[in-house]
Amino acid sequence: MTVAHYDLMDFEEVLDKYDPVMGLEVHVELSTQTKMFSASSAAFGDEPNSNVDPVSLGLPGALPVVNKTGVEYAVKIGLALNCSIAESSRFARKNYFYPDQPKNYQISQYDEPIAYDGYLDVVLEDGTEWRVEIERAHMEEDTAKLTHLGGVGGRIHGATASLVDVNRAGIPLIEIVTKPIEGAGERAPEVAKAYVAALRELVAALGVSNARMDQGSMRVDANLSLRPIGQEEFGTRTETKNINSLKSVEQAIRFEMMRQGAALDNGEEIFQETRHYQETDGSTSKGRPKESADDYRYFNDPDLPPVFVSREWVEEIRATLPELPWIRRARIQEAWKLTDEEMRDLVNAGALDLIIDTTEHGASADEARSWWVSYLSGKANETGAALADLPITPEQVARVIALVKEGKLTTKLARQAVDGVLAGEGDVDEVVAARGLEVVRDDGAIEAAVDEALAANPDIVEKYREGNKKVTGAIVGAVMKATKGKADPKQVNQLIAKKLG
Ligand code: ADP
Ligand code: MG
Repeated sequence: MTVAHYDLMDFEEVLDKYDPVMGLEVHVELSTQTKMFSASSAAFGDEPNSNVDPVSLGLPGALPVVNKTGVEYAVKIGLALNCSIAESSRFARKNYFYPDQPKNYQISQYDEPIAYDGYLDVVLEDGTEWRVEIERAHMEEDTAKLTHLGGVGGRIHGATASLVDVNRAGIPLIEIVTKPIEGAGERAPEVAKAYVAALRELVAALGVSNARMDQGSMRVDANLSLRPIGQEEFGTRTETKNINSLKSVEQAIRFEMMRQGAALDNGEEIFQETRHYQETDGSTSKGRPKESADDYRYFNDPDLPPVFVSREWVEEIRATLPELPWIRRARIQEAWKLTDEEMRDLVNAGALDLIIDTTEHGASADEARSWWVSYLSGKANETGAALADLPITPEQVARVIALVKEGKLTTKLARQAVDGVLAGEGDVDEVVAARGLEVVRDDGAIEAAVDEALAANPDIVEKYREGNKKVTGAIVGAVMKATKGKADPKQVNQLIAKKLG
């Protein structure tokens, strides 16, 4: 890392002297239809200030009403993170001056969160599993969105004006807070990244958020402190706010380790403060001194009754949980007998779901995998499209595979059928009919073509009779040519053997 204006300690040196401790706070915007406490749409990207109502605007006398789907999604996330679900939890007001929150307080949860004490097992690049313990997952509302004008990259620094979009105010958020992550050492940046990646995959699989970090529907605050090796007590942490990509999470941790290491060695004090991540050079810069919880003057929101979640409802929600992504991957790898590398290739190609869908339409896993990972991936690469965006469905691929299995298409003809579907010529059977691709099954026609080819190649026939059985390739080729590729090579070979044998 070469950031000229920062005094950084070499990463290796940091590890020799210090032990990093991390804490990750992840905000996930829920994909409910409406806001957490009012009936305005929670859609992303609408005309600014079009999804507003008295509650989102904090008008006098407006009263919040809890969104039941928001609570259900919170329970889903809590269960998937192996948390205990509180029978009764409460909303509290977190008070301070918010230019982006008309009420000047945020409705959040404080000492009675809906979910607590869980964990998420994440897999690191070399296959080791790392358990990240979860402190709590609580419900809250998002603030409005500020857009700063005149600053660099929309930042407040150097801005001359700020615009407020209230559409985002009141969109349901779940904040997931880890317990301190200790002992990761050199892997701290990797663990942070792997955890956020796993969490993102999880909430997307649960269908509770689109988890788009680039659109701000998932945002990460990364806390980091260093303590001298051997010391038990934690050092003072900084909190780098609103990080919006996986790469940045990793880099923010790495950078803070190197910055704090240098500061500590220079005898400087680390202040508990927020910091901003700079995309441009991967550094963090000073934000504001961090308030303690007391400063927020939390108190239970008198407008909202406690949230009761019956055990029956918890079980109902548990029953709707999908198979978790990594469990599904492990199961499939085992069932399909794939090596780690084959599995990784398939996941990286974005082919897993497509292959599973294809097998659900009757194809064997091997065939489905082969079509998606080789021929169709090749087609996707040619056009630069994502595999899933190719204009062919898993059902259509399964149909092609079935036709090959029934002997109605050869592999070569099957590829032409796929090409036809990709070219928009219709469904598989339509393409096969329109292009006349079906294997010729009429023995008479094939037999005639075989006879003709044998008659035209007496030298080959002679070699064959002398015992060289490998020479039939040319005959098969001639028959294929005569039948425009529509003969089944296996059948042709059988006919040759019968006639010459
Ligand atoms: P805040 O309200 O300041 O954001 P939270 O409790 O919500 O505090 O989150 C703090 C996060 O930092 C948690 O994930 C916690 O485990 C972690 N944490 C607490 N103390 C330290 C420390 N000294 N060093 C690193 N991480 C810490
Ligand atoms: Mg926090």
